[in-house]
Amino acid sequence: MFNNLSDKLDKALHVLKGHGSITEVNVAETLKEVRRALLDADVNFKIAKDFTTKVKEKALGQNVLTTLQPGQLMVKIVKDELTELMGGDAEGINLSGNPSVILMSGLQGSGKTTFSGKLANYLKNKKTKKPLLVACDVYRPAAIDQLHVVGDQIGVEVFSDRGNNDPVAISKAGIAHAKANGFNVVIIDTAGRLAVDEVMMNEISNIHRAIQPQETLFVVDSMTGQDAVNTAKAFNDVLNFDGVILTKLDGDTRGGAAISIKSVVNKPIKFIGTGEKMEAIDVFYPARMADRILGMGDVVSLVERAQEQFDEEEARKLQKKIAKNQFGFDDFLKQIQQIKKMGNMKDLMGMIPGAGKMLKDVDIDDDAFKGIEAIIHSMTPHERSNPSILNSSRKIRIGKGSGTSVQQVNQLLKQFNQMSKMMKMMQGGGGKKMMQMMKG
Ligand code: GDP
Repeated sequence: MFNNLSDKLDKALHVLKGHGSITEVNVAETLKEVRRALLDADVNFKIAKDFTTKVKEKALGQNVLTTLQPGQLMVKIVKDELTELMGGDAEGINLSGNPSVILMSGLQGSGKTTFSGKLANYLKNKKTKKPLLVACDVYRPAAIDQLHVVGDQIGVEVFSDRGNNDPVAISKAGIAHAKANGFNVVIIDTAGRLAVDEVMMNEISNIHRAIQPQETLFVVDSMTGQDAVNTAKAFNDVLNFDGVILTKLDGDTRGGAAISIKSVVNKPIKFIGTGEKMEAIDVFYPARMADRILGMGDVVSLVERAQEQFDEEEARKLQKKIAKNQFGFDDFLKQIQQIKKMGNMKDLMGMIPGAGKMLKDVDIDDDAFKGIEAIIHSMTPHERSNPSILNSSRKIRIGKGSGTSVQQVNQLLKQFNQMSKMMKMMQGGGGKKMMQMMKG
């Protein structure tokens, strides 16, 4: 995410970081580089200019040149400004009303249908919400099918009316269906066009007027850069929407849309999409995003993601198994699956401070666990729960079955044994013992 921008900002600020004292010339040079980095990331020219002007004013106001660590203070000022530019505090969505109605808008291909599913899934996981998805794209039967596929995948009901070509009537019927059947959130997916046009704008504004949603969200593909900002303006003029959803931030986006959109339409970015899977949704926190852009990682989000996947009941079961020495490969597999659900590996790595920069040229693909999973799948259930019986003929068979080598099987076994030992130690109040071991 934003690798290029991060790199360039890092280079621009690097000059200042190491210095005990800096000069006005240093600062001016740095700001020029910062502005260039923003422009390269496709940030709107005026915004980039205002940004550096503000940073400069703040730097002068805080007497950067005479402080003890001027470089660090500059980084902080840039970070604060970047946060401010992207929206200050995070803003949630309005879920008042019963049902609360959420209207999705945006161009075709921006990720509306995918995001509707992600949001439904996100709300459903909050336990108190029972969402209904409503398919209002009357032009493309495939779009209705797509929403049904998404609904099936996440276990959320989808309301559609294939014979009907009036999106206003369908959305109203959807809301009535929700009221009659105890759904407390209605998410309405609408038709998009490839570019802004009058027919589409009229249609979405008619729906908007007829159903008066609690929340109107504008979905935009972050890969579209400056265009994203222009499209946002056009939709905002008609809908006066409540918030922006930036999708496809997992891709190689330059970041311009994320940085410019808030100040152009003066509406907060509320969520981001970071992948095609239903779990790839994150609340947008400007400060955390600024940290990530400046290569400072985002440990808070990483921990939150881990917590989301954490199931207390499962954890208790696991603890018992470890205590009884029954932790097997099936449990190991489950752990891997949980990690995978946390999201795209490279994205996760980027949340560790410093790691994003270190790993930027390393190709971590999402199939990092493929080999391990294949090996475990090639074991019999008995072998999985009793790894100690794995002798060499079994290992040869497993290697063949999984398309790996005996060496790889051995390596996995070794890692597994080390892990089991470590877990056992942590369990038996051996935390201290382990600390001693680690200290050597
Ligand atoms: P719609 O026409 O606005 O409903 O867009 P879709 O939801 O059909 O999305 C268009 C394409 O973008 C699909 O192939 C999605 O899988 C993909 N997509 C949507 N959101 C994301 C995202 O956050 N990351 C990535 N990588 N792909 C996405």
